[in-house]
Amino acid sequence: MFRIAIDGPGGAGKSTIAKLVADRYGLDYVDTGAMYRAIALKTVRAGIDQSDVAAIEKMLETTDIDFNGTSILLDGEDVSTLIRTQEVSMAASNVSKIGCVREVVSNLSRSMAESKDLVMDGRDIGTNVIKDAELKIFLTASAEVRAKRRYDQLIEAGKEADYDTILREIEERDYQDTHRELNPLAQAEDAVYLDTSDMNIDEVVAAISEMIDSKERN
Ligand code: C5P
Repeated sequence: MFRIAIDGPGGAGKSTIAKLVADRYGLDYVDTGAMYRAIALKTVRAGIDQSDVAAIEKMLETTDIDFNGTSILLDGEDVSTLIRTQEVSMAASNVSKIGCVREVVSNLSRSMAESKDLVMDGRDIGTNVIKDAELKIFLTASAEVRAKRRYDQLIEAGKEADYDTILREIEERDYQDTHRELNPLAQAEDAVYLDTSDMNIDEVVAAISEMIDSKERN
């Protein structure tokens, strides 16, 4: 088996990097954050308060989540674009504190990792979902660099953006994700720490490829 776990805070470039690495090595890619986002989107649409554990538990009884490598399906609907809003980012961080939500996403993620070689990204992949992953990476960058990257992306897409607001939101989500009780964002003891603040995408992919190649050589 060759399973790569990539964890780190929001906006560190995990998805972009994980996809490129998966393509390069012919591995499947699983975005666990997208699953939390899909559940969060359903609460937003249904007007369910994200602290109402009983209502969310009930909602999950009739919720079907699937990630097919590129798209995230919520009850059969492709919500890949709809989950990429600031509102859903924060809602995802809120619902991810809840035990039954974590259980649904962790079980689904684990079952995907059981039979295939893959790259999986999230917050607790190395510490919880695939504790015995062959390679674990903790991918991070300073909050300021992550905010600037997000700001540039929005401006490039012709959208309005305010750097200070983005930075505040990033810091808020970092705090919430690292301070929750269940499977908080943390670096696994055996994960390689990679700070990408001063690296571009090609350099990060090259650094990870070097780690994979050296694992394969051994
Ligand atoms: O990675 P992404 O920003 O899409 O994740 C959205 C939210 O989902 C995170 O802020 C975090 O609260 C939650 N999450 C999690 N565990 C994971 C992946 C994401 O708690 N493995």
